[in-house]
Order: sequence, then structure tokens, then C-alpha cells
Amino acid sequence: MKRASTSAQTSSKTAGSMNGGLARIAARCTSRAPRGWCVSRRQTVMMSAANAPDSDSKKGPGSVGALKVVQTLERTVERVGSKQFSLSFATRPAKKQRVVILGTGWGAARLAKELDMGSYDLTVVSPRNHMVFTPLLASTTVGTLDFRSVAVSIRSLQPALGLEPNHFYTAKAKAVDPEAQTVTCISDEGSEFEVQYDKLAIATGAQGSTFNIPGVDEYALPLRDVADASAIKDKLIKNIAKSQIPGTQEAERRRLLNFVIVGGGPTGVEFAGELSNLVKEDLARAVPQVSCSVRITLIEARDILGSFNPDLRLYASRILSKSGVEIVKAQVKEVKETSVVLSDGSEIEHGLLVWSTGVGPTPFITSLPFGKSQDGRLAVDEFQRVEDMEGNAVENVYSLGDCACNTLNPLPTTAQVAEQQGKWLSKHINDQCQPQEDEPEPFKYTHLGQMSAMTTGSAVTDLGGGSGTPQLSFSGFLSWLSWRAVYLTKLGSFQNKLYVLLNWSTSQMMGRDLSRW
Ligand SMILES: Cc1cc2nc3c(=O)[nH]c(=O)nc-3n(C[C@H](O)[C@H](O)[C@H](O)COP(=O)(O)OP(=O)(O)OC[C@H]3O[C@@H](n4cnc5c(N)ncnc54)[C@H](O)[C@@H]3O)c2cc1C
Repeated sequence: MKRASTSAQTSSKTAGSMNGGLARIAARCTSRAPRGWCVSRRQTVMMSAANAPDSDSKKGPGSVGALKVVQTLERTVERVGSKQFSLSFATRPAKKQRVVILGTGWGAARLAKELDMGSYDLTVVSPRNHMVFTPLLASTTVGTLDFRSVAVSIRSLQPALGLEPNHFYTAKAKAVDPEAQTVTCISDEGSEFEVQYDKLAIATGAQGSTFNIPGVDEYALPLRDVADASAIKDKLIKNIAKSQIPGTQEAERRRLLNFVIVGGGPTGVEFAGELSNLVKEDLARAVPQVSCSVRITLIEARDILGSFNPDLRLYASRILSKSGVEIVKAQVKEVKETSVVLSDGSEIEHGLLVWSTGVGPTPFITSLPFGKSQDGRLAVDEFQRVEDMEGNAVENVYSLGDCACNTLNPLPTTAQVAEQQGKWLSKHINDQCQPQEDEPEPFKYTHLGQMSAMTTGSAVTDLGGGSGTPQLSFSGFLSWLSWRAVYLTKLGSFQNKLYVLLNWSTSQMMGRDLSRW
């Protein structure tokens, strides 16, 4: 790889001017190179001073100074002794290394937030200039929360992004060339440009799985980001309005008010719960004739909330049924414009269909020239380094979150995993600019439990299954309060916390915002 050879050339040149001991140690360390240990700008300058061709011959004191630098470096290297490390150089000598992050989701945002901006230049490339706080996204579809409440600006998380030479580009990564160390990007307007990196973190997430079921792409709406939530809210309000237009046939009126959700994971359950809150709390008050015609159906092939403990699953089913959500245990075979066909041949009409059945790799991830896991994600090792086609770690190219998978220890595609990986990777990369006496610690996931809200005042919390967490689960009002408290504290910025608190209060006191533009 060119990157490897660039690094090796720089290192061997430097080693050539060192005395024998240092050269041998540096060469040995560079060839092992299990991780980067970058030289600070000051060290780089000092080393090039020692390297200057005339420093020995012409400037007597300079050569003594250079020798001292070499001796000091040698002592430092010997002090580290047999510990593994490498000297990894920025491809632009005497400048900070360039970290490029693709994406602004859970993993990327945490990494960008905690990257040491004194040691690195940062470029973030993403079509979104914000991170979406996905656990509260379902609340925006029915107006409980404003869209801005769940969109956390990437510049507020990492203010240095506004200062040269750091950049945020609103664009999509299209290709990665690990030889040239470049990412080809494409803007919304279609213009292409290249970004060079010394370290690359790929955190571009996943996309909803449709399992090749015909009609899903055409007639179902996903719920993955703010634009999706806005499209759902728009259709919901439009259908309610259409159902009241004089002359609308009764059958059509009922179809328009049939809201169907496919997928009984936390997202599907929370969306069904939010819809039922809207119907019971707002529509019943404002347009009672509409509220009594609304039908909410949740279709799931197995049990809803399959990753929670059985008692909680039962509780969730009971609460949803009591709130008017019909749970249908079935598989969807086909989606038509106005109905969903189940595997037993029966059909359920829909006026609004939301699809939420797990995730799969995006075409961008599939196109990358790296190794893949069985489910098509980027294969990574325990240091989140992507693997090449032969399964060897590619130095300085990392991946995290929903688009990455350590095949020896596959983890679920959750915000919790992505965020912990982002936090770990920021430390790992920051540490590479400090002399480390210890071996780097690989990434280790700590499961903190899972929560899902149903209707106002009811939720489930499952703290079981994690290392170091007690086998504790609870449901009901206390769980709902904990759900709100946990997500409020986890929200990225003070501004978002304020918005959410205000939205929760105004929705409770004055009803949800159902305006449409
Ligand atoms: C509605 C909903 C509710 C959820 N609730 C929970 C929950 O309660 N708890 C939980 O743990 N998990 C939850 N999840 C799952 C969680 O949100 C994901 O696992 C998490 O977002 C994954 O983070 P990520 O960093 O991998 O990717 P994402 O957060 O998906 O971010 C991907 C980023 O990459 C960008 N991107 C995409 N393509 C490109 C490209 N080609 N170039 C550059 N950038 C690109 C995107 O714009 C985005 O900024 C929920 C998900 C959804 C959709």
C-alpha cells in the first residue's frame, strides 16, 4: 500500500541519519506498527533539524544540538523498551495529521466531539449537518416534539469545525481509495471533490431492510431521520384532513385512517404508542369523529420487543392492545398502494404505512474495497480497523456503528454501541499522539440495558443481559419517567435539552403541534 510505503520511506530516511541504535529500534518498531504513535509537530521539526545535510559539517553547535536531540530520542525509545509502538508520520511533514470522519450519526458525532483538536485537523463529510437523536424521533412524527429538538448540530458538538483548516462538508462519500488515502465525495448539487486523510473513520450507518419484499420502496415510509419523520407527519395530517372532506366515501375515509406499522422492535412500538397517544389525547378532543374511526395495526412476524425479557414483552402487548393498537402476528408478502398482503393471503388496507424492520448495509458500504461480514457490514478487528479482502487490518482506516461488524464479536446495531465505539475511538486516536507505555486496549462494549416507551405513562426498562449490570427489569410509570430522564440527560446539547423540556410541557398542557405547511 502506498500509505504504508510513504510511512516507511519517511521513517527509513529519518532512521538513516540517526545513530545505529536508534535506527535499529525505529526500524523494528515501524515494521511492527500495530498502531500509530504520531510525532508531535515539535518532535518532527527537531528531527528534520537533526536530518539537515549541513547541520554536521557547517554548524558546529548545530551538530552538537542535533546529536543531543538524537540521544534524547534514543533514551525515550529505550525507556519505552520492549513495548510495541510505531512512529507514524503525517503525510504533510510538520503539520498535524488529518482525521476525516464520514457521517454525523451517533458514532461519528461522539468521535468528532472528543477528538483532540490540538493534535489533529478534522474534516467531517455528511449529507446531514446534525446528529439525529433517534430514540426521540418517533415523538416528532405526531408533534409531541419539534424536529429541531432531536437534531443536534455537529458544529455545536465540535465548535472547532468552523475554523480553518477544519471543515464540515455537506456531501456524501462516494468512494474510498486506501492506496491514495483519499475519499471521493459528491455534494447535493452533484459536484465531486476529493478529501485526503491520514486517518479515516467510516461511520455512515445503515439503511432500513426491505428483504426484497415487492412494493416496500414505493408505498411504505421509513423512519430513520428527520426528513422521514417529517414525511410521516405530513401524510398523517393530510389523511386526517382528507377524511373530513365532504363527499369522501365511507370506505375511503376508513382506509385513510388505517395506520399500519410493520416491525415490532422498539421503533415500531414507540411509533404505535405515539400514534395512540395522539388519537386518545388530541384527536379525541379536537376531532372526535375522526378519532373513533382511526385504526392502528402493528404487524410483527414474531413477538414484539423480541430483545426484551418475556414479562416486559407481555406487558408491552397488553398496554398497546388496551390503547387500541391491534397487534397482528404475521409476515408481509407484498405491499400494494393501498394495502399490505400477508403470507396467509389476507390483506390489510392502509392509508399510512411505516416500515421498521431492521437494517442492512448501504450501497456505499457495499461498494467499498474492504472485507465484509456475512450481513454485508464492514469487517473490523477489535481496534475498529477495517479489514482488507484477505482479512488483514488496514492501518488508519476505522469503522464504527451500524456499518461495522467485528465478526468474532458481533454487536447489535444500536446507538449505544455506536456511541461507545465513537468514544473509544476518539481516545484511541488521541492516545496515538502521546508516548504510550502500555499496550492499547481493544474496544469493549458495556451493555447498559434497553428501554422502550409505549403510551404516556408506560414504558419498559430491561437492564438484564449486560456485563456489570444487575438483572433488573421494570415497567409502568416509573419506567416511563426513567425513559424520559435518561434520554433528556443523554441529549447532546443544552439547547436540545431545553427544547425537549419545553415541547414535553407544551404538548402536555396545550396539545400536540399538528400544523402542516
Ligand atoms: C427511530 C429510531 C429509534 C431508535 N432508537 C434507539 C434507541 O432507543 N436506543 C438505541 O440504542 N438505538 C436506537 N436506534 C438505533 C440507532 O439510532 C442506530 O443504531 C445508530 O443511529 C447508529 O449510529 P451510526 O453512527 O452507526 O449511524 P447513524 O446514526 O445512522 O448515522 C449515519 C450518518 O452517516 C451519514 N451518511 C450516510 N451515508 C453517508 C455517506 N455516503 N457519506 C457520508 N455520510 C453518510 C448520515 O447522514 C448520518 O449522519 C434507533 C433508530 C431509529 C431509526
